[in-house]
Amino acid sequence: MPNIVAIVGRPNVGKSTLFNRLVQKRDAITDSVAGVTRDRHYGRVDWTGREFSIIDTGGYVEGSDDVFEGEIRKQVNLAIEECNLILFVVDVEMGLTEFDKEIADLLRKTKKPVVLIANKVDNPARLAEAADFYQIGMGEPFPISSINGSGTGELLDEVVKQLPKEQDSEDEEEGLPKLAIVGRPNVGKSSLVNAMFQEERNIVTDVAGTTRDTVNTRFTKFGMDFVLLDTAGLRKKTKVHEDLEFYSVMRSVRTIEHADVCLLVIDATLGIEAQDLAIFNLIQKNRKGVVVLVNKWDLLDKETNTMRDFEALVRKRLAPFVDIPIFFTSALTRQRVLKAVEEAMIVHERRITKISTSKLNDKLLPILKDNPPPMTKGKEIKIKFITQLPTHAPSFAFYANLPQYIKEPYKRYIENQMRKIFDLSGVPIQLFMRKK
Ligand code: GDP
Ligand code: GDP
Repeated sequence: MPNIVAIVGRPNVGKSTLFNRLVQKRDAITDSVAGVTRDRHYGRVDWTGREFSIIDTGGYVEGSDDVFEGEIRKQVNLAIEECNLILFVVDVEMGLTEFDKEIADLLRKTKKPVVLIANKVDNPARLAEAADFYQIGMGEPFPISSINGSGTGELLDEVVKQLPKEQDSEDEEEGLPKLAIVGRPNVGKSSLVNAMFQEERNIVTDVAGTTRDTVNTRFTKFGMDFVLLDTAGLRKKTKVHEDLEFYSVMRSVRTIEHADVCLLVIDATLGIEAQDLAIFNLIQKNRKGVVVLVNKWDLLDKETNTMRDFEALVRKRLAPFVDIPIFFTSALTRQRVLKAVEEAMIVHERRITKISTSKLNDKLLPILKDNPPPMTKGKEIKIKFITQLPTHAPSFAFYANLPQYIKEPYKRYIENQMRKIFDLSGVPIQLFMRKK
């Protein structure tokens, strides 16, 4: 399971600037995924071959500084509980504040690695000011400038050094598809799990999870065999935390990264809101399979076109990644719950099935030839060869004479064509343009 790093600190110290700086290099590559909107608070970093997730906790607090100090305290505590390493940012321009000291007091209680960062050290003259922060008792501060990037390479070296070793999943789970039920609080995730497991309880076996309070459950019935991730997180009601968007995102990140396919649950009575989309983005960003469950369908007054209209609305909100199976479920009556799970298993199959090179070229090249990329700088752009790459999540390389001129809209066009020809519903794909 990949590590999660959290950036904490009071407002305006430069957390989001640092976040953008750290994810920027990698995003240049991964954001070639057609249509993935950049998530401003969650990203992946790959530094010297070590990969980790990074979360800007500040992104989940809105409003003015003082009103939200309590909120920030909660987030620091959550980061301590849920993350593997904490980046504690302070600001040399502003100097040491009482609130910095308070946050330091909270952080001192954890055994997890904390890296103290003195930000805004834009020039050597400010190094002396950085040393001031030594007195908060979190060791030597790491001087950086998030704005001009100085020190960030050394910082990443340090982070990678202090990150705990990644744990592998247990042997028992090896090879089984891993499904996850995700969604914001109260959409009916735990009720759906109960609906799935209601009969034949004895078939259910708990498999101990890798982290402290993760319990994965093996599901073996109706001809299916898979592991359902983080059932403890679903059952356990964390009343203290569950109102925090940050908490549900954090919890979801853990589970999504580990999953093959996610069942994203939304509440039919509320429709899709920002928090649902944030979780949807996490799924896309991690390139996991996805099935959408519009749950509590029993609560809606239905007329002839209710379902059709609702579905259209959902797809509109999920755009541009709309090639996704959608089910209208009720945990209460168990309507379509199993159908949705069956579809998730099919999505898993689709996601691991490789498309042969001959099929790709035979079916796709003629279409791309008929409708080639627009000429750029008077030059014709030709895609000559296509192959699937040996990656976990499906990705494809398109070899062309001038790959740098193939832009996002055309990639979107290719992706749409591929989705028409091949069976890719619920499966995010990645396209890379390469020089031939
Ligand atoms: P956050 O509230 O902690 O996320 O802080 P932001 O990232 O929004 O930054 C707050 C302000 O500090 C912005 O005006 C940034 O441009 C500025 N800032 C961030 N990093 C640096 C830095 O390294 N040097 C300087 N001089 N300003 C910075
Ligand atoms: P979670 O926080 O996502 O795990 O949501 P819960 O499973 O705890 O459900 C939140 C509330 O919605 C509970 O009161 C459930 O009884 C109710 N609920 C969940 N699914 C359904 C459903 O399909 N239909 C109806 N009518 N209520 C539901």
